[in-house]
Amino acid sequence: MPIYEYKHTKKKGDLCDEVFEVFQRVSAEPLTHCPTCGHPVSKQLSRFGGGVDKLAPSRLKELGFSRWHRRDKGTYERE
Ligand SMILES: [Zn+2]
Repeated sequence: MPIYEYKHTKKKGDLCDEVFEVFQRVSAEPLTHCPTCGHPVSKQLSRFGGGVDKLAPSRLKELGFSRWHRRDKGTYERE
């Protein structure tokens, strides 16, 4: 499943990282709002060219990423 990267376009929530990733189907609707705080987000081009999977979790955290998995329709869980 491809990883999409989203960035908060306005103020981010207290519990959020500025940039986060979501695993989505190619056919899935892009997120327009953060699953945590509900603030608007925009889809970003990956900085890593799809290689983000190869980075260690500690490195991801350092770069300000959190990884989200879609559990059910409209529900995302932080890894
Ligand atoms: Zn947020």
